[in-house]
Amino acid sequence: MTTAVVVGAGPNGLAAAVRLATQGVEVTVIEAAETIGGGTRSGELTLPGLIHDHCSGFHPMGAGSPYLQTLDLAEHGLHWEWADIDCAHPLDGGDAGLMYRSLDATAEGLGIDGERWRSVFGSAAEHFDDLANDLMRPVANIPRHPLALASFGPRALSPATLTSRVFRTPRAKALFTGLSAHLYARLDRPFAGAVALLLTAAGHNYGWPVARGGSASITDALAAKLTAHGGTIVTGTPVRTAADIPAADVVLLDVSPAVALGIYGDSMPKHISGSYRRFRRAPGAYKVDFAVESGVPWADPDTGRAGTVHVGGSAEEVADAERKVFGGSMPERPFVLVGQQYVADPSRSRGDVHPLYAYAHVPNGYTGDATEAVIAQIERFAPGFRDRVLATTVTTPAQLETSNANYGGGDIVGGSNSGLQVLFRPRAGIDPYSMGIPGTYLCSASTPPGAGAHGMCGYNAAESALKYLRKR
Ligand SMILES: Cc1cc2nc3c(=O)[nH]c(=O)nc-3n(C[C@H](O)[C@H](O)[C@H](O)COP(=O)(O)OP(=O)(O)OC[C@H]3O[C@@H](n4cnc5c(N)ncnc54)[C@H](O)[C@@H]3O)c2cc1C
Repeated sequence: MTTAVVVGAGPNGLAAAVRLATQGVEVTVIEAAETIGGGTRSGELTLPGLIHDHCSGFHPMGAGSPYLQTLDLAEHGLHWEWADIDCAHPLDGGDAGLMYRSLDATAEGLGIDGERWRSVFGSAAEHFDDLANDLMRPVANIPRHPLALASFGPRALSPATLTSRVFRTPRAKALFTGLSAHLYARLDRPFAGAVALLLTAAGHNYGWPVARGGSASITDALAAKLTAHGGTIVTGTPVRTAADIPAADVVLLDVSPAVALGIYGDSMPKHISGSYRRFRRAPGAYKVDFAVESGVPWADPDTGRAGTVHVGGSAEEVADAERKVFGGSMPERPFVLVGQQYVADPSRSRGDVHPLYAYAHVPNGYTGDATEAVIAQIERFAPGFRDRVLATTVTTPAQLETSNANYGGGDIVGGSNSGLQVLFRPRAGIDPYSMGIPGTYLCSASTPPGAGAHGMCGYNAAESALKYLRKR
């Protein structure tokens, strides 16, 4: 029987494993940590009974993933849950920009900027499934939907700071800029609008759901699918060198280029190992989880109904904070992403005590204490927040890296999204998944289409591996 080894049981490793197993390959997954899931782990981080997501919390690209949608993961316990409002962006003075799953409701809430919101996002939202099919593959592929792509291109290529000028109100400008900050790069550079377009277009189709019971249900469902097709998962087994990998027809690595170099560096063609060495990291995340009594007292009451809250103030402030972080300095008021998963999924709370998730964008490898900066940013838009906090757990960039070797310096997006690296990751080439050693592939978020618990990097890499197996 044809065999495969997948190193790493994150969403991409498991998606790759499922794809191979469903095509008749005997798959073994080897995971360093004691539990599977990588960036989708969840559990009690503050008080007993409160379920926090360790990393990924909101899943527009997971719900809209061309591959995950084919797998009927509900059969294995994955159920999406939605808050009334997908994303809120509070401003000083008690106002907030609100993004609903419905494009119409979002446009209506944005008043005089409603039509402009439609003009920026309407076409991408209408054609999201076609766009996802093209954009969630390597760029070297011939587009299947060139017209949809042509209407998406110019906006995606533009710097986010330029597109935000389309809007007149501080509310819409800030909402758009906060969405763009998911890029984790400078917002005044080309391509900086691409991530906002995709996340918003996905949101206007699939919403920004959370996984019922915690994001771990995503990878638990993939693991159940894998074992149902005869696959095996071994945990608590870090792979350090190629000698740690059992013989197999194909090997897929759900790891960063830096980790892959440690495993196969000596055997890789020089031009490919050179690209991996030059691969740049993104800024880092500094995460603070809270147990909060009676929820967050947002000055804008609608913000309390949102799953995701972008805390960073005006568009200019967010762009400035992102520029500083990208340049290696810590802003006084960082961009903070706050997750109120319990609003969509009350099973994560205990009575009136709720798990709140927050992370600040900080420079890669940041060693300072950003806890107070995170609290102060939330308090700024929710006076009295501090008094409701019953427990706090901090995860620094270094601790993120210890928990998952892929998060070098706290980089949670699998490598910098700046410049051409957003398109050509981890290197330019017809098959960016190939590591240049026959039958060996990289399948992590450091490959196209990049970060997110959508499994598409794994699926695409598995397709490359299947092509190789058919040709042998
Ligand atoms: C704080 C935070 C917030 C996020 N928010 C979101 C969000 O809201 N929505 C979203 O879609 N995404 C989010 N993400 C990003 C998302 O979690 C990642 O993009 C996604 O998990 C990447 O999947 P992956 O399979 O490529 O890698 P990972 O999830 O990193 O999994 C890789 C696995 O490989 C294992 N591994 C690494 N090295 C080795 C080795 N040498 N031997 C064996 N095993 C190894 C690791 O332990 C890990 O289990 C967030 C991430 C973080 C940290």
